[in-house]
Amino acid sequence: MHFFKDLLSIFYPNLCINCDKHLFSSETVLCNSCKNDLPIIDILDFHSNVITSIFYGKSIIYKGYSFLFYRKKNSAQKLIHKLKYENREDIGVFLANWIGHELHKRDEFLNVDYILPVPLHKEKMKQRGYNQLTVFGETLARKITCEYLPNVLIRTSSSKTQTLKSRFERFNNIHTKFKLTNTNYLTNKHVLLIDDVITSGATLEACCNELQKVKNIKISILTMAYTQKT
Ligand SMILES: [Zn+2]
Repeated sequence: MHFFKDLLSIFYPNLCINCDKHLFSSETVLCNSCKNDLPIIDILDFHSNVITSIFYGKSIIYKGYSFLFYRKKNSAQKLIHKLKYENREDIGVFLANWIGHELHKRDEFLNVDYILPVPLHKEKMKQRGYNQLTVFGETLARKITCEYLPNVLIRTSSSKTQTLKSRFERFNNIHTKFKLTNTNYLTNKHVLLIDDVITSGATLEACCNELQKVKNIKISILTMAYTQKT
């Protein structure tokens, strides 16, 4: 069976996202060599780490986790770029399966009730045709046995695109507002908010501000990657 799959891939090449080498049937998304070289962040303490520190003094975050270091032109950037702009939702499945495996190894996030995605701008959703977090979030929810809730936290405004905003507006994120469509659902629950890349955490913070209106909610954050502010 593998032989035929390998033979087929000669005619329909299945290439490594990072180095363009042909993939074997046992490989998906990345060849084994690029997979071994992925810049994975070694997080030891889920309560206090590089991710949770972004929110110190701003939002109360129960636990934080990011899987990859995202840098210009590195493999993490290539993965997320293709997931976001080239309709490669299989990358979302690949990352969610791997992250799910890591979380099980450490018994982390296994008591989460709901996974909530950072909502995408309506315009971006229209342009792209999909939200890069959907398949990722659904797969991760299955892996850690919780429910994926895509429509509870919504965006209420997105008047201008990021590039048209002034630096002040971008910095303060003042055009981005979030709203909860149902707060009863989240009362007394542990919610895992997910996004692709975290930098300053401004968008996630705006989401947290809204979520924190819910009684006795516990908020954790998980992103595919983390990048340092430049
Ligand atoms: Zn490769």
